[in-house]
Amino acid sequence: MLGQIKQTHRIPARTGRAFVVAKGDLIKITDCEGAQPVDFWAFNRENLSEYLSCMHTKPSIERLFPREGDAAYTNHRRPIVTLLQDRSPGQHDMQYAACDRWRYIELGGPEHADHASCENNLHGALEGLSIRLPFTPQPWNLFTNFFINPDGTFTIKAPESKAGDYVILRAELDAYIVLSACPQDFNDTCGGKPTDVLAEVGR
Ligand SMILES: [Zn+2]
Repeated sequence: MLGQIKQTHRIPARTGRAFVVAKGDLIKITDCEGAQPVDFWAFNRENLSEYLSCMHTKPSIERLFPREGDAAYTNHRRPIVTLLQDRSPGQHDMQYAACDRWRYIELGGPEHADHASCENNLHGALEGLSIRLPFTPQPWNLFTNFFINPDGTFTIKAPESKAGDYVILRAELDAYIVLSACPQDFNDTCGGKPTDVLAEVGR
């Protein structure tokens, strides 16, 4: 589907990357080794206060998270990316905040305050584009299997994605994209072993 590849970003386990896309670009995100969640953010390049918002997406698509053909929406209630192709089991959570230092303190104690986190990966990656963001939007958690039980409880399960599984998103706005290869190793979020992610941008 990606005819001409314009950008390739190998994102090592536990780290993040930010890059620029234009409206109409295709973004292929590959789980290189399997069972690796990707925290995904998208911001309108013309106005950083407009960004992909999970809580605004859910009422627009009337589902807990997008499936093939659905868009993810901004807090201004317009599509920012569309999930064009999904070659994975389709678990792309929109319920949970990015892991952050407080989550690692909660799970492991204060000595884990400096654990790598998706929140730090977001802000570190944006600094590479000279962008300082004073808040952390909830990410779209690709390849993430937070399972909602019928009684309203949930279970953090290991992702069922396999090595080479991927999604292709189409940018619907000129956008900054940020990906974090989630470093969560305190539970089954990453199947116990954080691994690399590949992002390619094309047309
Ligand atoms: Zn994370």
